[in-house]
Amino acid sequence: MAQDKNVEKVIIVGSGPAGWTAAIYTARANLQPLVFAGRPKTVPTTILPGGQLMMTTEVENYPGFPHGVTGPVMMSYFEQQAVRFGTRIVTDKGLNPDVSNPDDGHSYAYQDCKRVDLSRKPFVVVGEDDKEYTAHTVIIATGATANWLGLKNEMRLAQSGGGVSACAVCDGALPVFRDKVVGVVGGGDSAVEEATYLTKFAAKVYMIHRRDQLRASKIMAERAKSNHKIEFLWNKGVVDVLGDNMITGVKLKDTVTGKESEQPLGGLFMAIGHTPATAFLNGQLELDAKKYIKLKDPYRSTTSVDGVFAAGDCVDSVYRQAVTAAGMGCKAALDAERWLAVQGVE
Ligand SMILES: Cc1cc2nc3c(=O)[nH]c(=O)nc-3n(C[C@H](O)[C@H](O)[C@H](O)COP(=O)(O)OP(=O)(O)OC[C@H]3O[C@@H](n4cnc5c(N)ncnc54)[C@H](O)[C@@H]3O)c2cc1C
Repeated sequence: MAQDKNVEKVIIVGSGPAGWTAAIYTARANLQPLVFAGRPKTVPTTILPGGQLMMTTEVENYPGFPHGVTGPVMMSYFEQQAVRFGTRIVTDKGLNPDVSNPDDGHSYAYQDCKRVDLSRKPFVVVGEDDKEYTAHTVIIATGATANWLGLKNEMRLAQSGGGVSACAVCDGALPVFRDKVVGVVGGGDSAVEEATYLTKFAAKVYMIHRRDQLRASKIMAERAKSNHKIEFLWNKGVVDVLGDNMITGVKLKDTVTGKESEQPLGGLFMAIGHTPATAFLNGQLELDAKKYIKLKDPYRSTTSVDGVFAAGDCVDSVYRQAVTAAGMGCKAALDAERWLAVQGVE
């Protein structure tokens, strides 16, 4: 392959555990990765540079942190490690921001990748400012954002460790939820899974659902109904989350009668689905029915386009954990490196 110095060897889109891990590996392989870290957004779902862990306080299940670590600090470590080995990040002020102090009120803004053209080689990756970058390989690591109700107090308490979360498997075992009466919003299979998981720690779990029956499969619904710690609040929508520093309850509205009521709670978990951040691909990679990127080989990171790799929650609707996303980021980096070697790109 002809070597054009203006063509990047690898562009990584996404700056969660998958994206930064791919950056660490490709940077250490001397591929000088270029990362689109993404611009913060709160509507319709919260998307932040650093990914979903920016929405959580304590991370207790990522190996290597025996005393736990906050999500933002952990992601800052990922980023600093990637930059240390030569990763460049696309910002509105150029490619090389100083990321060593995340508290210095960054004077630059990370860029979204607005669109890609994967139909020609080298691939074209376009930033928010319409600047075009070309690359021999692209790694997509844009994640899948947990859906929230979008209530002001919900987001405030979620970001301050006030007992509101969108991941029971991640946060359910935290001391703050132990022996509490907690709520799970949702009625599908994953809501039942989350509620069942929470019964290991909580005194009681209310499943709050807008309808009068679960959307979950029959077997899952039976599992929830036979669990003595789970109780159902049917035909109820959450219209506000109550509490100053810590959740004390929720305000509910009956979806049939419109009547409002309050339910005291010591914790609240959203289980109303995830939205994979794949719309910007504009159908150029094969997606599954839920809009997650389809891998050509489930053991690799290869996608429907040769030379484009994908990693993390944007391909994974099952595990959705930081450590699995990071593992996939590593696989994508190694796959990209090997692909470049086969193509003869030095
Ligand atoms: C409240 C909560 C708590 C959690 N707690 C834990 C926990 O304790 N332990 C654990 O293991 N897991 C936890 N998780 C799950 C974990 O956060 C995810 O599994 C993990 O972050 C997925 O990593 P990722 O890199 O695939 O995607 P993400 O972390 O979602 O990162 C995606 C990245 O892509 C960027 N992006 C998206 N679109 C674009 C675009 N067009 N251009 C540029 N960038 C883009 C985003 O800005 C973001 O940086 C939690 C999740 C939530 C919601």
